[in-house]
Amino acid sequence: MRRVPWRDKLLFAPGPLTTSPAVKAAMLRDLGARDDEFLDIVADVKNRLLTLAGVDRDSYAAVLVQGCGSMGVEAAIGCAVPRAGGKLLVAVNGAYGRRMVDMAEVLGIPVDTVAYPENVVVVPDDIGERLAADKTITHVAMVHCETTTGIFNPIGEMGKIVAERGRVFMVDAMSSFGATEIRIREWGIRWLVSSANKCLEGVPGFCFVIVAKGELAAGAGNARSLCLDLRAQDEDMRKTGQFRYTPPTHAILAFHQALLELEAEGGTRARTERYKRNCRMLRRGMAALGFREFLASGGHGWIITSFRCPEHGKFSFAAFSAILRDGGFVIYPGKVGGADLFRVGSIGRIDAADVAGLIDAMRRALAEMGVTMPPEEAPE
Ligand SMILES: *Cc1c(COP(=O)(O)O)cnc(C)c1O
Repeated sequence: MRRVPWRDKLLFAPGPLTTSPAVKAAMLRDLGARDDEFLDIVADVKNRLLTLAGVDRDSYAAVLVQGCGSMGVEAAIGCAVPRAGGKLLVAVNGAYGRRMVDMAEVLGIPVDTVAYPENVVVVPDDIGERLAADKTITHVAMVHCETTTGIFNPIGEMGKIVAERGRVFMVDAMSSFGATEIRIREWGIRWLVSSANKCLEGVPGFCFVIVAKGELAAGAGNARSLCLDLRAQDEDMRKTGQFRYTPPTHAILAFHQALLELEAEGGTRARTERYKRNCRMLRRGMAALGFREFLASGGHGWIITSFRCPEHGKFSFAAFSAILRDGGFVIYPGKVGGADLFRVGSIGRIDAADVAGLIDAMRRALAEMGVTMPPEEAPE
């Protein structure tokens, strides 16, 4: 893949991610918020999102929301849960699940949690039991890929249990939408939130909510925020084709190009394969260098991988990541309280050659620091 002449560092990150030259170039325009060309692009973006989501236009809507991904999650929670008699249950096994609990608390929404350690996959039956025991719970929210560690939670199984018990299922699919097939209808997902700058390989600036139209209509009057009122945003856009307030024009142009590139690549299936290939190479390469994974007991996806910082006297993550940064590679510190971790992503516009470059740079960085480790057993 060719890159722009100024050669940015490659972002092996949870997002924002490395984007293609054409995605960046798409932003070199100034279109007005009411420009017909822009409005056509917005309409096309919404259509393409619904197609990607595999849902029909009569029963689901794609609502675009200005801002970062968390704003979309906050908008969805604030619009979904009724003001009178609503209660949210959140399954938590990482920072993003905890963030949903924090949001509910700020919004004044009654919230309960079923919590797990960060290296344990959410168990749908636990949620089923909780729903049986507490009839006041109306909504259940869960993160699909917990980007804290890279662990994948079983949203398919969970969705069926939530639907059987007659509650509304909400999914934060921020770091998984576009990177793996999500059967929204079949799995009973009524609200799904994702963002432009993760696996769809656009730039930051907005997020989107795929929502069952019935939920949106039923939620009239729920919104706890004027700006984050998804129903108002959807209605206005239906009437005028426009965003209610200033749209992220450049980010939308970039995203449209990113969606064309996703199609050209072969859709979600081809992207899944590229990310899986990146991740497999990364995990094997790092095992050969002697790094140990945090999710040794399973649940590993192909979005991001958490590694333990080696307990070697000469290793420091700050020094390691600084050497890599100078070499043009960005990796991320970890996010788990009890363990000293760091994270390396497999997503964004990176391919096998880039991963090979990163592994090579890591080998040199370890040599420079005087760190030698026996190889770990290679993952499957
Ligand atoms: C990235 C991410 C978010 C949103 O992050 P923002 O920084 O608000 O864009 C939410 N949930 C998950 C699982 C994520 O990976």
